[in-house]
Amino acid sequence: MNIRFLGAHNCERQNQKLVSLLIDDVLAIDAGSITPSLSLEEQKKIKALLLTHQHYDHVRDIPVLGMSLFMGGAAIRIYSIPPTLDALARHFLSDEIYTDFRQKPEQNPTLSFTVLEPNKAETIEGYTVLPVPVHHGVPAVGYQVTSADGRSVFYTGDTGPGLADCWRQVSPQLLIIEVTSSDRYAEWAGSSGHLAPSLLKQELASFKKVNGYLPPVVAVHMSPDLEEEIAAELAAVAKELDCSITLAKEGMEISI
Ligand SMILES: [Zn+2]
Ligand SMILES: [Zn+2]
Repeated sequence: MNIRFLGAHNCERQNQKLVSLLIDDVLAIDAGSITPSLSLEEQKKIKALLLTHQHYDHVRDIPVLGMSLFMGGAAIRIYSIPPTLDALARHFLSDEIYTDFRQKPEQNPTLSFTVLEPNKAETIEGYTVLPVPVHHGVPAVGYQVTSADGRSVFYTGDTGPGLADCWRQVSPQLLIIEVTSSDRYAEWAGSSGHLAPSLLKQELASFKKVNGYLPPVVAVHMSPDLEEEIAAELAAVAKELDCSITLAKEGMEISI
């Protein structure tokens, strides 16, 4: 399984993009920066898009992706929990801000929605996809994606502390988890449904207690202005827990 980080941040700058992951070219998770990162041919290869939650930085590209695929004669299926799909239908695909590509073209619409039930695994494009609820300001899920050959990645999406229940349901070979702020803002992070390095440390300790091991960890959703502090603090956490923690970068790829 190959995981490509199209975007790895919570704010956009010239060299930093909003969070999006691409698995084996066919399965995308979150839509912060799909279209500015991929050629049309690459966009057309994506068959499924999983959304963790409705926040703008995770869904922004959907109308533009709709237009791009419509012009390119391709279609994509979007999967998420009901609150996320409802918010998208109300605000992004209502024919008010932009075309509702769920209706165009009539015969084979460019975008279509499939509802996922939390904690219920589904087979999507040959992968077993398990949506697991996490704590955030709006209903949100992380996804464990398991390939046919048994390789698994878990991506939390945006989440605050308290992942013990989540850890009981997953056993990935790679953990992609958000670390939005540095420890200077840990209190804000925890109360607003995000993580900082000291909070991550507690969650990783909890993972190890539940699962008996720690997979390599990749941090995403960093605030660009705090990234140096976050990197230094994560290096200390990695040393203390004797595990690997990498900060994702735009364009980075990992094979598991
Ligand atoms: Zn969010
Ligand atoms: Zn976010």
